Amino acid sequence: MSIFQNAIKQLEEMKAIINISPEIYKLLEVPQRILQVNIPIKMDSGELRIFEGYRVQYNNWQGPYKGGIRYFEGVNLDEVKALAFWMTIKCAVLGIPMGGGKGGVIVDPKKISKNEIENLSRGYIKTLFSDFGPQKDVPGPDMGTTPEIMAWMADEYGKLNGASAPAAVTGKPVEVGGSLGRGNSTAKGGFMVLENLLSKMDINNPCVVIQGFGNAGMNMAKLCAEKGYKVLAISDSKGGAFNSDGLNVNELIDFKKLNGTIYGAPRTELLNNQEILELACDVLVPSALENQITEENVERIKAKIILELANGPITPEADKVLENKGIVVVPDVLANAGGVAVSYFEWDQNLKGERWSDEEVSNKLRDLMMPNFFKMLELSRDSHISLRKSAFAIALKRLEEAYNSRNI
Ligand code: GLU
Repeated sequence: MSIFQNAIKQLEEMKAIINISPEIYKLLEVPQRILQVNIPIKMDSGELRIFEGYRVQYNNWQGPYKGGIRYFEGVNLDEVKALAFWMTIKCAVLGIPMGGGKGGVIVDPKKISKNEIENLSRGYIKTLFSDFGPQKDVPGPDMGTTPEIMAWMADEYGKLNGASAPAAVTGKPVEVGGSLGRGNSTAKGGFMVLENLLSKMDINNPCVVIQGFGNAGMNMAKLCAEKGYKVLAISDSKGGAFNSDGLNVNELIDFKKLNGTIYGAPRTELLNNQEILELACDVLVPSALENQITEENVERIKAKIILELANGPITPEADKVLENKGIVVVPDVLANAGGVAVSYFEWDQNLKGERWSDEEVSNKLRDLMMPNFFKMLELSRDSHISLRKSAFAIALKRLEEAYNSRNI
């Protein structure tokens, strides 16, 4: 099954659980708009290359489309549709006035120069300029896109707009209107809910395994290490590093800076990306790509809690098996929502011309994440449904209310 089919399956499964008008389901099964573009770029060599890009504007009942732009060689329309659908659910789980969208460009940013990345990022905005805007569609960062890239995009948007419009793009560096606290917000939001869950489950000094060492995974590793949790294993796209006494996270970050990977770092045993998922641990944090825990490996998963910092790391079939095994899965649409939450704060600050302190952002993040997390826990307990189904139920109710009040 394709990633988008998996995502829609999660929606379909809700039909038996919550009473939402069939019209709402029908409308949410498809994106409102799909934009596919070819972006011509003059490479440093003088050669003209054409990059394929997408923007899926999934749903805007609750506000402007919101979602990141992914730079990755494996990007395809099916994946971007799924990610845009999850953004719709994610923003609705948080109850923020934003809809769901997602973008992507087929490119490996490690294989082109900085100048070429800048031209591509400006080209992406140029090509889609009329479809973006602070009240229309607000792109943010995702895998492969950095604050620097978001600054180029915001700058390009301002130029074409004839006036600076920082609220058109989020994830910018602080100097050009970015929010304090955006850098590690995805991990921070996930960590907040994890801490609460661990205390509820009476797990002290947990041992943690993290798949992925990008923005989300690396910051999660840092937060866990600062709190004294034992980080047993981490992987990146090249492979995994394991130490039964716990990894030295700061050492791994330094090693990655020098070598581009953590694979082969001193005092670590080598594991592959799949092996690390199957380690016995308290908490497993998939922070990389979709479809990592599937029917094929789910029986070998030994974690007690899975915190989905990645989008869609578990297939619907595997999800069922985990549920039957009593493994607690904190679903992506809540677990990694800290990222878009602080993107929303950035948009809000830009619209109002404000700058909030680190502490303000952190408190607001807690105020947004925790009540919705508790709501999800409560509904799951009272209705005997998984946390994912509970999160979807909260989101779908809010989406239905928005749809009905607009009388679309
Ligand atoms: N890419 C992030 C996500 O998947 C955040 C998107 C944004 O900040 O707009 O939630």
